[in-house]
Amino acid sequence: MSIAPIGILGGTFDPIHFGHLRFAQEALEQCNLDAVHFIPCGSPPHRNAPHAGAPYRLNMVRLALQGNPAFVLDEREIRRAGPCYTVDTLTALRVEMGMQRPLCLLMGGDAFLLLHTWHEWKKLFELAHIVVMQRAGRPLGNAINEADAALRDAYRARLAPAPRALHDAPAGAIVVVNMPALEISATDIRRRCAEKKDIHYLLPDVVADYIQSHNLYTPC
Ligand code: ATP
Repeated sequence: MSIAPIGILGGTFDPIHFGHLRFAQEALEQCNLDAVHFIPCGSPPHRNAPHAGAPYRLNMVRLALQGNPAFVLDEREIRRAGPCYTVDTLTALRVEMGMQRPLCLLMGGDAFLLLHTWHEWKKLFELAHIVVMQRAGRPLGNAINEADAALRDAYRARLAPAPRALHDAPAGAIVVVNMPALEISATDIRRRCAEKKDIHYLLPDVVADYIQSHNLYTPC
C-alpha cells in the first residue's frame, strides 16, 4: 500500500493570500495529497527581507489556515536564525517522516524557472518531488525552452505524465498542475495597504482585519 504524499508550500507569506491558498487546494485535490504544510520562511536567501516581522507573518498564516485540518502550519524555518535553505528543511523533514513518505515541494512556475539558482538544487530531487503550478495562459513548456540548460534537462528527464507518479516513489518526479490564474500577489496587497486602499476579497477576511488592526504595510 502506498503512503499518501504530503505537499510543502514555502514562501514569505508577506502576507498570505488567496493565490497561495487556492494553489494549495488545487495541489491537494489534483495530486491527492494527504495534507499541505505551509512553511513561512524566516530569512529568504533569494530576496530582500520581508516587510512584516516574523511573528506577524506567522500569525497571518495561522489565521488563514484555521479550521482546515488538511492545511498545516510548520514554524521551523521562521524560528531558525540565518538563511532558510529548502534543502535543509527537506532533510529535516526526512529525518522526521522517514524515507518512504512522498514529499511534494509545491511551487509556482516563476519560482521553478529559477530553481537552478537555489542552494544544492539537484539534491532537492533526492528528497522530494516537485509540483509546479502552471497558471492558465502561461504554459510552462514554452518558458522551459528558454530556461537554464541544466534545469531544462532535469525537467525533461523527470517530468511525469500524471500526478499518480507522486504516489509511486518518495521523490524525484516533476508534475505540472494547472490552475486558473488568480492575479493576486503579496506585493500588490502591500501596495494597496500603503495607499490605504481596501484589501478584502484578496485574502481571508480574518487576515485582512489582522493587517488593518496592526497597521501592517502602512507608512508610519
Ligand atoms: P511577493 O509578491 O512578495 O513576491 P508572492 O505573493 O509571490 O509574494 P510568495 O510568498 O513569494 O508570494 O510565494 C510563495 C509561493 O506561492 C511561490 O511558489 C509562488 O509561486 C506561489 N504563489 C504566489 N502567488 C500566487 C498566486 N496568485 N497563485 C498561485 N501561486 C502563487
